[in-house]
Amino acid sequence: MQRLNAGKVLRAGNTEVRNVKGDVSVDFYARAKDELVRAMPERQCCKAAELCGLVKTDGVVRITEGRVSLSIPESSAAVARKVLALLKDVTRPEVQVAVAKSRGIPRGNAYIVRLPDHEDAINLLETLGLTQLRTGGGADPGILDAYCCKRAFIRGAFLGAGYMSQPGKGYHLEIYVESEQFAEFLAELIVQFGVRAGIVERRGRYVVYVKDGDGVVELLRVMEAPNALLELENDRVLRSIRNDVNRLVNAENANVAKTVEASCRQVQDIELIDEYLGLERLPASLRQVARARLDYPEANLTQLGQMLTPQITKSGVNHRMRRLASLAASLRRKGGPPDAV
Ligand SMILES: [Zn+2]
Repeated sequence: MQRLNAGKVLRAGNTEVRNVKGDVSVDFYARAKDELVRAMPERQCCKAAELCGLVKTDGVVRITEGRVSLSIPESSAAVARKVLALLKDVTRPEVQVAVAKSRGIPRGNAYIVRLPDHEDAINLLETLGLTQLRTGGGADPGILDAYCCKRAFIRGAFLGAGYMSQPGKGYHLEIYVESEQFAEFLAELIVQFGVRAGIVERRGRYVVYVKDGDGVVELLRVMEAPNALLELENDRVLRSIRNDVNRLVNAENANVAKTVEASCRQVQDIELIDEYLGLERLPASLRQVARARLDYPEANLTQLGQMLTPQITKSGVNHRMRRLASLAASLRRKGGPPDAV
């Protein structure tokens, strides 16, 4: 046990990755986390693996006068309960639970599960394959032999130090860890499930992240959160439908803008003609269209055509508008009325 005399051997507090109040994601994240808490592994191997993930990301080993104690602080009572349930099934140590006021975000209680007894702490660390590891590093391959255990380990790591963004803010899942070595180990483990994972250093810690929608969905499947997975998938479908609708609306708005712009130009032309020439001097076919335009500046060409007697088609109206435009242009050029129209 000489290797553990560094004091804090494993440390990955996770308060700062918790959610910010008022964020809708609190709900989705909380629901997903709740589901992950309830996903209790059946096999003994997976229970040890999940506990290992939790202890690796969130456990603190203390050595006082050669005696080892282990504590696992959690800001969620539900996760603390899961830690207790797993401990009970894995090594049955004597445990103490303390409740402290959390200083980080969110404010609230922190639940500290402690194994005060030296033998119990050593026994657990040995069972989880953590006695031979220095700060950082991965997990004992023996603990993560089977895929079922790898999934449980990732779930444990996420429960210990993970965070997931609100679906509306892009799809993002991350796990905070203390060492680069462990970050690489965890990222590689995630990659084994066909999910792209990256690592970024943030404020002296390492963040293993998955930031594409497919990856987050797959990782939820890996961690066994089918309801959160469905919720995220529904969100993605709705979002893509909404995007399609928005595209259509934008196209429609662009058409309306074009109509309004054209109408403004036409009204200016007609007013100019009226000033220089007088609308009454226009041929009846043009005068009719000009008056209709002045009366209904918001109408499109088809609607204008329907207001005339007899009705004319859109292209008919368009043709007359062009004649009005060229008349206005020539009046503008000459700076006064032409001799004849
Ligand atoms: Zn297993």
